Amino acid sequence: MLTNLKEQPKDKILGLMAMYRDDPRPTKVDLGVGVYKNAEGVTPVMRAVKAAERKIVQEQTSKAYTGLAGDPAYADAMIDMLLAGAVERDRLAAAATPGGTGAIRQAFELIQMANPKARVFVSDPTWPNHVSILGYLGIEIVKYRYFDDETRAVNFGGMMADLADVTSDDVVLLHGCCHNPTGANLTLTQWQSVIDLINEKGCTPMIDIAYQGFGDGLEDDAAATRLVVQSVPEVLIAASCSKNFGIYRERTGLLIAMSEKAENTAVTQGNLNHLNRQNFSFPPDHGARVVTTILTDPELKADWMAELEETRLGMLALREQLAAELKRLSNSDRFGFLAQHRGMFSRLGTTPDLVEKIRVDNAIYMVSDSRMNIAGLNAQTVPVLAKAIVDAGV
Ligand code: PMP
Repeated sequence: MLTNLKEQPKDKILGLMAMYRDDPRPTKVDLGVGVYKNAEGVTPVMRAVKAAERKIVQEQTSKAYTGLAGDPAYADAMIDMLLAGAVERDRLAAAATPGGTGAIRQAFELIQMANPKARVFVSDPTWPNHVSILGYLGIEIVKYRYFDDETRAVNFGGMMADLADVTSDDVVLLHGCCHNPTGANLTLTQWQSVIDLINEKGCTPMIDIAYQGFGDGLEDDAAATRLVVQSVPEVLIAASCSKNFGIYRERTGLLIAMSEKAENTAVTQGNLNHLNRQNFSFPPDHGARVVTTILTDPELKADWMAELEETRLGMLALREQLAAELKRLSNSDRFGFLAQHRGMFSRLGTTPDLVEKIRVDNAIYMVSDSRMNIAGLNAQTVPVLAKAIVDAGV
């Protein structure tokens, strides 16, 4: 039986990681993998996470199953952080999932159960796993223009023109903040236009928010999501705690499904529970418990917020340093977009050939679509990257 299996396409980021590992050059720089790293190149365990884990070890009296949707206190804490009362709590069904990816997968399955005709509109480009999971589930994908290769900002005209094709059966997938892979984001005014279009067409928005706190701050990064839940009847939200709590391997995510009326919430919740049951039964608890412990303890929460803010400002400083260095070396403003982008990533907007040239000549690794992980830099490597970009003729 197993001999019938065909080889799966290689994941390009994992391939890049292997190449980086095998590169003997001591000056090598990894801007590939999507994990936050501090100036020492370490992905730290955050202070509040360590403290919460100690507390859990001391105080936890049982490892018995939680509920199918996870611990309700986790959903409450996350909904509070993300939506801050923007919508009535009794319209929200929520389930803990293994990471943001688990939430995305369950959301797509929920869409398929609710409406087999639904197509999902995704930005071009988007996080490749969106496309791959949709393809795996056999859900029709429609791409909408998103990134302007010239300005390296959002091609808003193209986006709105392409979204004009949605019908009331369809779902529009949007990145809540810190767009991956481009780093280019909608303004709140543009979000409002997207919301108006969604309401006019009667389609359903789905928001993937995996970087709350990495862009303009914990509150600002949630502003668009809050605006959406206040403005449309139904919303799906897939949230990840991997980045903002630095608990990647604990697999901590949450799927939220907002119904138009509170009387629909119980059925929606039952479907979220059912999906968890079919796919993995009870969701992982450790990461969720760490998050809940932090968010419900004022001291731990303040410390976590302070460290998250340091992380965010560190990435912002690297962006500004890189944009300034490139301005100096290129004698032009054409790289100013790097300081405008938000989150961990920026798409440089160059060809795979030049990405390869930069790797061969300088041992700087970025994804072939020219996505760079800004957190892979430090104050010393920024000038090296800037020179490599200019030398390659980008
Ligand atoms: N959405 C986006 C846009 C992401 O970049 C990621 C992480 N790379 C995720 C969702 C999911 O992350 P995780 O499953 O690790 O929580």
